[in-house]
Amino acid sequence: MSPRQHPKLLRIVGVASGLGAPDPRCQDGPDALRAAGLVEALRAKGLDVAWPVTLRPNPEQHNTVAALADVCQRLAQRVERILWRERLPLVLGGDHSCAIGTWSGVARTLQPSGALGLLWVDAHMDAHTPQTTESGALNGMPLACLLGHGEKALTTINDQPPLNPAHVCLVGVRSFERGEADLLHRLGVRTYTMQDIARRGLDAVMQEALVHVQQGTAGFGVSIDLDAINPLEAPGVGTPEPGGLVVAELARALNALAAHPAFMGLEIAEYNPARDQADVTAQRVAALIEAVYVTSPAGHSEASLVMLEQRYGAHNYEPLPVVLARGKGAYVWDVVGRRYIDMMSAYSAVSHGHCHPRLTRVLAQQARTLAVTSRSYYNDRLPLFLQRLCEVTGQEAALPVNTGAEAVETALKVARKWAYKVKGVAPERAQIIACKGNFHGRSIAILAMSSEAQYRDGFAPFPVGFHAIPYGDAQALERAITPETAAFLVEPVQGEGGIIVPPVGYLAECARICRRHNVLLICDEVQTGLGRTGKLLASAHEGVTPDGLILGKALGGGLLPVSAFLARRSVMDVLTPGDHGSTFGGNPLAAAVGLEALNVLIEEDLAGRAAELGAYLLGELHTLQSPLIREVRGKGLLIGIELDPALVSAHRFCERLLAHGVLSKDTHQTVVRLAPPLVISKAQIDAALVAIRASFTG
Ligand code: PMP
Repeated sequence: MSPRQHPKLLRIVGVASGLGAPDPRCQDGPDALRAAGLVEALRAKGLDVAWPVTLRPNPEQHNTVAALADVCQRLAQRVERILWRERLPLVLGGDHSCAIGTWSGVARTLQPSGALGLLWVDAHMDAHTPQTTESGALNGMPLACLLGHGEKALTTINDQPPLNPAHVCLVGVRSFERGEADLLHRLGVRTYTMQDIARRGLDAVMQEALVHVQQGTAGFGVSIDLDAINPLEAPGVGTPEPGGLVVAELARALNALAAHPAFMGLEIAEYNPARDQADVTAQRVAALIEAVYVTSPAGHSEASLVMLEQRYGAHNYEPLPVVLARGKGAYVWDVVGRRYIDMMSAYSAVSHGHCHPRLTRVLAQQARTLAVTSRSYYNDRLPLFLQRLCEVTGQEAALPVNTGAEAVETALKVARKWAYKVKGVAPERAQIIACKGNFHGRSIAILAMSSEAQYRDGFAPFPVGFHAIPYGDAQALERAITPETAAFLVEPVQGEGGIIVPPVGYLAECARICRRHNVLLICDEVQTGLGRTGKLLASAHEGVTPDGLILGKALGGGLLPVSAFLARRSVMDVLTPGDHGSTFGGNPLAAAVGLEALNVLIEEDLAGRAAELGAYLLGELHTLQSPLIREVRGKGLLIGIELDPALVSAHRFCERLLAHGVLSKDTHQTVVRLAPPLVISKAQIDAALVAIRASFTG
């Protein structure tokens, strides 16, 4: 049985030794961690943890190499015993030379079944031999010793070297000398420097490293020298080196690694309490241990949930590496309890904030009363919802559906039928004009309007009758209109297209042109609507009441899919019974939640909040000085930061934000979208700004 099957049985061995280091203060590290309450903190997280022993060098032994060999012998035996009892070992060093003992012990346990793989996370290579080192410090040598090179007393703790170079990976290296690099190169040990990590991202590097330490081995472990971490985050280490890993990113990667059934244990070395400030490094140590050993309350680690989804789900999304479990207002929490500020709000679907109490109350109450009836009957919720929806949008009739794409499809059908029945366009000739860069959904008909190659690739043929014009150019609309044009479909701000705000006056001019040519102006406000841009409808910024209006996302209050197509009565009335419908559209549950969502929107003045907080956030973002930024733009709380793709990918930047506790999402590879719930507070925006600034600098 693998120890991982008892993930909560953790045994700590302290090694209060600074024998290897020129600065011996790391020897106080294990005792300081214990005094800082590490065991209690881990128990509070539900771990069965015991710290039965802290090994110390024999004071009678004056030969440093012999003293270290003795500590390592004892450590190896301890680790072996822990593994035999099917507990997971956690070794807390002293200086990193204790690794010789830890991994000798693990290798000995594994030996009957196969080799040991080791992931060595360190700013340094620790691969000196007595011949290549100038300082002679033993903490510059443990990896070489484990590979069988160096002081005889240290390389002969096992019968054979504990590590085979093929199964060793170094991650985070940024300071080394020629001799050690030569040795590792000669042996074929794989090394990932900080430059590799900056280029490829830690997750990608760690995934590759996992393959090397795990394939062809009977188990693998992780050895961390805390100087791998950026000293700005972890100052209390043996030998601080500028730059380095971000703790949250490392924690996430370790969580994924440790979910592997062949994971055998963790070692963390070189905690130097004399250099720590207010125990911040000690807290980082606890965070790393939690990431490795604590699983979610549901008993699944983040990584195992990700693997399950990969295994059983279609691969039509590429989520950021976070598994969310809970939300409240503008906050969400992941499965291990880390909190994030949601600056995405599910593409504006969660404008009311997560789990708004008024909305969850209505949802629960209506779910207990009557939820789904179909439109074959009237129900006592839908009429009230439709009335309120028309009142607040200034439209005369509404057709309720579920998703935004369905509402867009409804708009297209109504526009075509209007063209034939009212405008008098010849059969099958009706044209609809849309804009390049649009996003209206992903049905086949909607993709006929898309200019995005990937959305269309592999899904042809598409319906005809659509024409694309540049966005933001009213004259292009006038030129494109023909007597067969039924409608012009437009987003007041292009959301998925990259938060593109058209020139002032554009929509008003389009409205005049449409009226002049008897063409319906249909605004897709699925994303911009219901307060997002600082007014209830984004079209209202230009005093425009469109002939057709598409709403979705926030209409469901962040709880249900509720969308609608709205229009003047004379337009909507082209539909007769049987022309169009949806089983779930307008069900009592959706109607009750939709009605309350509208009430909350008005009563909490979410549009006013978006205007005020959006102006504040945009103003603050405009003060950011970074060569990475090309442009900051937006309206209300729909904001995009366009980055220079030559310097950083927006996806990578969103991973950085995630590591700093902020959820965002890239759009169009270059734009980072900031669209928090409209209930977000100024203090939460300020906290997000701190994280955003940190993501630009670190
Ligand atoms: N229109 C716009 C403007 C959108 O942003 C979206 C979704 N991002 C849609 C339509 C489609 O909505 P849904 O995903 O609910 O089908």
